[in-house]
Amino acid sequence: MELSQANDYVKKMFSCEWVKWIHPGSSPAETVAEKKNYAENPILNGRHCARCLNMNGCCFVKGNCPENPLHEHCHCHYEGIGTIEVQTRSSIEKYTKYIFDNEKNKGKKELLEKWGYSVFDSNFLKEEIEKQSCISIQCGEYELGSLDGYGQRINVVIHLKRKDTGEDVTFVAGWMVYPDGKVFLTTPYGDDK
Ligand SMILES: [Zn+2]
Repeated sequence: MELSQANDYVKKMFSCEWVKWIHPGSSPAETVAEKKNYAENPILNGRHCARCLNMNGCCFVKGNCPENPLHEHCHCHYEGIGTIEVQTRSSIEKYTKYIFDNEKNKGKKELLEKWGYSVFDSNFLKEEIEKQSCISIQCGEYELGSLDGYGQRINVVIHLKRKDTGEDVTFVAGWMVYPDGKVFLTTPYGDDK
């Protein structure tokens, strides 16, 4: 990143206005297991909408947030929260056991290897994708992905340098939104934009 570009980012990073989705009367799902429980618990879902339960506490940049209300009789609302610190979290296994897995990689292993990256770069890729995504999300530079009973996904464009030619390559990383600025990686290298 050029220095002038870096300065622009720093200015932008903490200037976005954030809003928090509030579903009154339920506790926010903080873990994968808690989201799964809200999504798959039929007794709960007889009374509440799983999407709304899993949106509770999730934060977005104002102007780049899911629409509210979400459905008829939705009693959720947004609360202005000023700014927030984005935290990106991902597991190394998304690289070692998915992207670079011989069976599960869906053609991504071959692409990354063409650019000069192998399973030995898993840790570098994990940290790089976390870092770039954190800055982009903090600046509001993400695209809303699908929203279902498990929650809201967002997509972020990642830039890498090919090791052989130094040429810039881009792809999209997919994240699931969790409460209070936390996002968990769903896919390091998504199939769609
Ligand atoms: Zn609702």
